[in-house]
Amino acid sequence: MNNLMIEVPEMEAKRIFEVEKIRADFPILQREVNGKPLVYLDNAATTQKPQTVIDNMIHYYTFENANIHRGLHFLSELATESYEKARLKVKEHINAMSVAEIIFVRGATEAINLIATSFCRGGFYKAGDEIIVTQMEHHANIVPWQILSQKKDIKLRVIPINEKGEIIFEEFEKLISDKTKLVSVVHTSNALGTINPVYDIVRVAHKHNIPVLLDGAQAIVHNKIDVQKLDCDFYVFSGHKLYGPTGIGVLYGKAHILNSMPPYQGGGDMIRTVCFEGSTFDDLPHKFEAGTPNIVGGIGLGAAIDYLNQFDFEDISRHEKELLNYATQKLQEIPGLKIIGTAENKASVLSFTIKDIHPYDIGTIIDTHGIAIRTGHHCTQPTMKYFNVPATARASFAIYNTKQEVDKLFAGLLKVKKMFG
Ligand code: PMP
Repeated sequence: MNNLMIEVPEMEAKRIFEVEKIRADFPILQREVNGKPLVYLDNAATTQKPQTVIDNMIHYYTFENANIHRGLHFLSELATESYEKARLKVKEHINAMSVAEIIFVRGATEAINLIATSFCRGGFYKAGDEIIVTQMEHHANIVPWQILSQKKDIKLRVIPINEKGEIIFEEFEKLISDKTKLVSVVHTSNALGTINPVYDIVRVAHKHNIPVLLDGAQAIVHNKIDVQKLDCDFYVFSGHKLYGPTGIGVLYGKAHILNSMPPYQGGGDMIRTVCFEGSTFDDLPHKFEAGTPNIVGGIGLGAAIDYLNQFDFEDISRHEKELLNYATQKLQEIPGLKIIGTAENKASVLSFTIKDIHPYDIGTIIDTHGIAIRTGHHCTQPTMKYFNVPATARASFAIYNTKQEVDKLFAGLLKVKKMFG
């Protein structure tokens, strides 16, 4: 090569976003349910898995299975390498500073319980301290703090929402006081689809030196997350909502905070030395990963991240936004249908009720047409209470859904209406 030429690193070409080809990557989408092609619109509960995730997990059990971090034999080293590679993929995917900041857990729920338990044990709270959450939290970001409050007399302060399902930001600012120890809010609501103004929340909380935990269980699949840009102190999510397996999730935390926190569980793999007089603990991330972890889960999550990274996230967001807009417009044509959650900034989650028809009936009837939606309170009872409904029906869209599927949902709902006269 002419040494005057500057070598330009090749940009990795992204895969063209072609929904039919994407659908072919997900074997379950080829099956029928109740004699009809499956229309899977329950992605906010869990997403389907591409073949590559399934293959990577089978490959691990077929060729690499061994316990990690322990044996000095070939397979153990191979398994350790695959598991730690997955951690690196997560670190790069969310742009954490280091792999030490990526703790593998069971899911978003366990991540929040880990923080709550460790903060409590570490004496981070005193009686009367407060944690700020929103009216639209998942139970996973309410109950762990209530359990903690039974030990420490801690209060939850709740940011109210408006009728669109958006937080009232001025009220958030009013809730902050010198008693506030943590702001813990959902990034994207699973019940309403609302995307919260997390940059502003972090900015305001940090002005008062209050750390921020973001529950990214829903956001992680719709948007490219950059924890350094967000500057949040914790970010949690579950692998199974990101086209990965169940039983694996991530707690991201800033290293200096994680370092100051005591371990969550004790046991093998998280220690440096153990004797009966006491033990010393390993460095991050291992300090928080006691016992044999979900090795195959980590590997599956790494494969899911690789799968997603073939695409430009802009294409994913555009596709999902188009589906949301199309479905919103279409469903509103149905007399008596009311959309719950109409925030300006919204992810592809569509909750609704139909006058005089219980959501459970809606779900059960359209299931007979092979259409899977979720009905219930979506683990957000306080949100349901605010909207004065016991439950909603919810369609949530993913990378592989199509407008034809929205049409089938529409037709299915018309049939429900007809059945109820
Ligand atoms: N937070 C939100 C916003 C969620 O949607 C969910 C799952 N529905 C969770 C937390 C809990 O996730 P997991 O059950 O995977 O731990």
